[in-house]
Amino acid sequence: MRKANDVRKELVKRGRQLYAAGLALGRGGNISVLERGRIFIKAAGVDMEEALVKDYPDVGPEEALSESKHGRVSTEIPMHLACYRANRAIKAVVHVHSPELVAVSALTKVLESNSYEFDCLLGRKVPVVPFIEPGSDKLGRAVAKKVSESSNGVLLARHGAVCFGRTLKEACDRAMALSRACRLYLYLEGR
Ligand SMILES: [Zn+2]
Repeated sequence: MRKANDVRKELVKRGRQLYAAGLALGRGGNISVLERGRIFIKAAGVDMEEALVKDYPDVGPEEALSESKHGRVSTEIPMHLACYRANRAIKAVVHVHSPELVAVSALTKVLESNSYEFDCLLGRKVPVVPFIEPGSDKLGRAVAKKVSESSNGVLLARHGAVCFGRTLKEACDRAMALSRACRLYLYLEGR
């Protein structure tokens, strides 16, 4: 089992990669890892580009939904917690906002595989959930329902996407693959 500080260091590194790849802007987007029975997640109000080790606090699953107990973690903690509870194999969650993700979420109800890369990293399809207030428990419940539908990510209408994996690298690769698949969808549709 890794030390807590090593978990945080990986979150710092991957958060910067996602930001550099254009998957997040400003304080948007957030990532987490479930390890040592704790959820390590980006703090609220911090850019992934600038976040340091101290900006990835950890909370227990039972404290995650109580603001008075978790204090300053990302407002999107309900969605992260819902993913971990929906599938015990999930150990990392990546939530990002790129324009391609948002565009495709407005054009289809489900994104079917459109490339070999999609097959390898995302499975056969990625469902879309309608717009629901970001940070709400309701959004967490809607995402959790889709987690079990044999996909490795979910598009969130007018918002972005959430991807999951057994490791943070796997979840990040899936988020990048989903953003690329959405760009490809737009090319193929002539948009
Ligand atoms: Zn968001």
